[in-house]
Amino acid sequence: MKEFTGQVASEGLVIGETFVMKAASLEKTAQYENTYETYAEAKEKVKEQLDQLYEKTLAEIGQAEADIIDAQRLMLLDPDFDDAVKDALAVGQTNLVEAVRQTGETFAKVFENMDNDYFKARATDVRDFSNRIIDTIQGTFIDFSQMVDKSVVIGEDITPSQTLSMDQSKIAAFVMSAGSMTGHTSILARTLGIPSIINAGAPILEVPTGLQAIVDGKDGTVIIEPTSEQVDNYQKKFDAIWFERENLEQYRGKPSVTKSGKEIKVYANIGSVGDAEKAFAMDAEGSGLFRSEFVYLGRSTAPSEEEQHDAYLGAARALAKDGKKRPVIIRTLDIGADKNVSYLGLEVEANPALGYRALRIQLDRADIFETQLRALYRTAAEQVIEGVNPSEKPNVLDRHKKFTKKSQIGIMFPMVASHWEVDKALEMCAKVREELKVPEDLLVEVGIMIETPAAAIMADDLAKLVDFFSVGTNDLTQYTLAIDRQGTQKVEKYYDAHHPALLRLLENIAKSANESGIWAGICGELGGDLELTEFFINAGFTELSVAPPKVLELRQKINSLD
Ligand code: PEP
Ligand code: MG
Repeated sequence: MKEFTGQVASEGLVIGETFVMKAASLEKTAQYENTYETYAEAKEKVKEQLDQLYEKTLAEIGQAEADIIDAQRLMLLDPDFDDAVKDALAVGQTNLVEAVRQTGETFAKVFENMDNDYFKARATDVRDFSNRIIDTIQGTFIDFSQMVDKSVVIGEDITPSQTLSMDQSKIAAFVMSAGSMTGHTSILARTLGIPSIINAGAPILEVPTGLQAIVDGKDGTVIIEPTSEQVDNYQKKFDAIWFERENLEQYRGKPSVTKSGKEIKVYANIGSVGDAEKAFAMDAEGSGLFRSEFVYLGRSTAPSEEEQHDAYLGAARALAKDGKKRPVIIRTLDIGADKNVSYLGLEVEANPALGYRALRIQLDRADIFETQLRALYRTAAEQVIEGVNPSEKPNVLDRHKKFTKKSQIGIMFPMVASHWEVDKALEMCAKVREELKVPEDLLVEVGIMIETPAAAIMADDLAKLVDFFSVGTNDLTQYTLAIDRQGTQKVEKYYDAHHPALLRLLENIAKSANESGIWAGICGELGGDLELTEFFINAGFTELSVAPPKVLELRQKINSLD
């Protein structure tokens, strides 16, 4: 028996089997030579991985599935691919990873442009094995296909795209030797209701794969090879948690209203159609944040307009399963910092949180931005909430008077710092709206995230441009207090989300919104902090968007307030 202690990043209690992401795989800055020999070595390793995967698939699943791996194996052996990498290096491509990525893309495109559906589908195989080669060169390859049911995944700092590469149904818990509370894997874990422990210390990485483990996301302990007494205790605790949850069920279907009659919208944060289903199952009144970047992560090309439309429509429909169209606010792509994709070709930055991310990328990349806006407005025009006439409401904004209908979909921009950025983004929205001929009397709310101190201070000005504010407290805390939200344990104590400077900014944001007649909500993790619920309501926030498993708990809290 061995016990480790860390901080709880996502609550819950499970028993499962360890799956340890190998230390070698965690060398994010692995040094490699930019030579053809490095490529050849990596390719050989990938071939071995595919050989093993072929045998495993054949034994555990079947011949047809194993044939898919075999096809990939054959393509990997194509000498033309090797020659193309060699040529790329010869013509001055000094970065080997870039050479492999470009070659993979060129080959994938050839398949994609073929008429035959079978060959078209091979583009995915090419991208898959070139990503495997890249991961092997960089020392970041982890074979998630080895995960078993109820895997307690142990790693240094598990990334969101690694999480998405795993079979979600097999994840029982996350345990990180490092990690951070507001890192996106912790956020994802809370959304999915996966118990997570962070900062469990480096020795946990030495634990072998395949051992029984209890993860206690209440007191932050991880017990490896528990005694039978500890397993009994686990069962008792599990029953108690179950009882608490049952108790919350009485708030299902009830309004989220204080004793003095103030109604608050309790929404859920989502990143996929599956999350939206979870949000509906947890009785969320809508979604205040759909992190659309999760539609972009874990793949080798950007999602098409059609794929995005399907994802947004799927989420909207999931939150209208009973016929009632609950609002879904979709945030435009917030890529960069700890969420990255290779196909955007972003440069490595010394300070990615202060760098080229979110709206900053989209304002430069009209191709990416407009594709997303088209998918959003198409969905918005399809998901109209009937019987809502915004212009008939008292105190309606002048600019809303022309609307007679409202969409279920709202659009929100991340990482705004200046007036001009909002102007430019709104211009793009107007252009797309016009191109798609979205009915002029349909209100599609457009808002911004307030997550930079600049936006928080200028909230009165910005409120004149948009329909709502949603505060991203995760980033607002990091930028206000100058503490990296992905920071090391040493600086973690300075990441104080209750800091008076932050609370004053929050008051200013809500006040500015109310004075301009727009609504303000919170979609950062702080929105679920029950110690501050009363403060938020008094400040004038009318919407709180939290991880789906937190909805009923927050409603219970709101109902208990005067
Ligand atoms: C935030 O910054 O609080 C937020 C909600 O956005 P994200 O966590 O995705 O950066
Ligand atoms: Mg943010």
